[in-house]
Amino acid sequence: MKDSRQHTLIRYLAYAKPYKWIILLMVLTGIAKFTLPMVPAKITRIIMDEVLTDSSRGMDQRKAYQLKLGLAMVGSAILIAIVTFIRGYTHVVIDAAIAFDWRQDLWRHLQRLSLGFHNTRPTGSLLSRLINDINVAQGMLNGGIVNVIIDAAAGTAALAQLLLLNVPLTLLVIVVLPIYGALYRKVNPQIRKVSHKVQEQTAVISGTAVERLNGIAVVQSFAQEPAEERLFASQADELRDLSVRRGRLDNILQATSHFLMDLAVVTVWVVGGWMVIAGGWTISGKTLGGDMTPGKLMQFIGVTTLLYTPIRRFSEINIVYQTSMAAIERVFAIFDVIPEVLQRPGVVDRQVGLGGVQFDQVRFRYSTDAPLVLNDLRFTVRPGERVAIVGESGAGKSTLVTLIPRLYDVSDGAIRIDGVDIRDYPLRRLRRSIGIVLQDTILFSGSVRENIRYGRKKAGEDEIVAAAKAANAHEFIEALPDGYDTMIGERGMTLSGGQRQRISLARTILQAPRILILDEATSNLDSESENLIVDALERLMVGRTSLIIAHRLSTVIGADRILVLKEGRLVEEGPHADLLAAGGYYRYLFEQQFGPLQQMLAKSSDQAT
Ligand code: ADP
Repeated sequence: MKDSRQHTLIRYLAYAKPYKWIILLMVLTGIAKFTLPMVPAKITRIIMDEVLTDSSRGMDQRKAYQLKLGLAMVGSAILIAIVTFIRGYTHVVIDAAIAFDWRQDLWRHLQRLSLGFHNTRPTGSLLSRLINDINVAQGMLNGGIVNVIIDAAAGTAALAQLLLLNVPLTLLVIVVLPIYGALYRKVNPQIRKVSHKVQEQTAVISGTAVERLNGIAVVQSFAQEPAEERLFASQADELRDLSVRRGRLDNILQATSHFLMDLAVVTVWVVGGWMVIAGGWTISGKTLGGDMTPGKLMQFIGVTTLLYTPIRRFSEINIVYQTSMAAIERVFAIFDVIPEVLQRPGVVDRQVGLGGVQFDQVRFRYSTDAPLVLNDLRFTVRPGERVAIVGESGAGKSTLVTLIPRLYDVSDGAIRIDGVDIRDYPLRRLRRSIGIVLQDTILFSGSVRENIRYGRKKAGEDEIVAAAKAANAHEFIEALPDGYDTMIGERGMTLSGGQRQRISLARTILQAPRILILDEATSNLDSESENLIVDALERLMVGRTSLIIAHRLSTVIGADRILVLKEGRLVEEGPHADLLAAGGYYRYLFEQQFGPLQQMLAKSSDQAT
């Protein structure tokens, strides 16, 4: 556990390495910030002992001396202000720089993690890592490490100064420290535990919030707002309790250290005062601290508070360390997820050619202990061929098509494009040659134009318009308030379902893929919209290898070939008319889906041919 924490810390500190010189400056100014106040403490002593109480000099001489000392105090105050500024400013700069670099890395990593990962991880919890945890982790470098160095250096310097001033008083000052140490050891593990829980609970809350806000339509249409409020309240309630618990423990430590410091100061006042009054403190015949003067006592008290500042801060350092360590561990846990779909090292840079697709004894399961979803699939789709995939819900149709762009990798067997295993293509080349049009159209916030050229950022205006025209989208886009510059919401909220689909078609047309994967929408668009889309799809499919998860009668009839899936196996394969005539599983499915009317129509068209 300890070793792994150390390892995690080293890993995190790699992000600090590029800034090592600024960090050095930050540490040095930090130490100066806490040691420089020893100068005014010393000046106070001189004022007390050599100006105020020393009547051996003349009044004017004493006044001039007092003024000089005052100027020296101002000088040290200026110096302290400067180092305080540099310490604080570099702190902010470094924290922001490290968070930026780390967040960038995490984002890059998240983009590459496979669909399998994203499907099982609530978006909210990832969001909480990307935003919240990385912010919290910022505390580590300064709050957790730099402060320790600064405090250790400043504390040692203060202790050395105290010992130089008066050894017995110094012993009195530090005799209370073991009490603090014991309390610290008792409370510390509890703080760590609660800190962990606080962050876990934060992730739970953001996970729920993102999910429910995404599904707000479901919440509202089921009239479940009160239940959602209760759920949120119970989760937030737990967070509140945990935060309060952490605050209580933290403040116990802080209050104790405050009290101990005050106790130490009072002890010094009393015992140091005796030393001044009686010319030392006599214990069993020995006189200690005989040279104590009022000024020296003042200086001693000033330096005592300098010793206690780092000690007091130690409890804060601890909580910052524990909290940020927990955050760092949680972020690295994501980094440690290895993308399941990786480009093979040393793949030859090759392009997809004509786009013939071959499944060779493909088996697939979503995870090692899950059942086979696809079993022994063997089929070939010729370049330019149009193939419809049919089967009952859960038969594995969607799974089959996600394997082609390697959103998941096959568990066994191989998929080849133009005779080459898809794992032997550079991943980006493979994916760029495959266009996917899903049922659920996802557009991003931005302008219509940006959405269309999402897959080919460098496309020219004429190409964009041509794609929009081919997708039957140009006309309605022109009619939008700002035409192609019209901003659309997170999911194209202001557009109708049909319009969104046509923009997504234009996006795919512009991508000009060799292979096309269509998951036909089952949603009921109005017939005009539907016709426009079907027409655009027809145009899109011309000359491309197309695999279509078919729901429309026209699609199955229009396909060159139909693959019939049942429980992950290919049970029948052939043109519509042949399969229907064979009277097998396809015929059963067909009758289920399209009913007697279509059946009759199909029969009449059979007779016609
Ligand atoms: P279809 O598209 O034919 O309805 P799917 O390919 O969606 O079928 O699903 C096939 C099987 O795989 C189903 O049993 C389904 O529960 C399972 N499945 C689908 N997606 C996942 C996933 N992300 N993780 C685990 N199992 C899944």
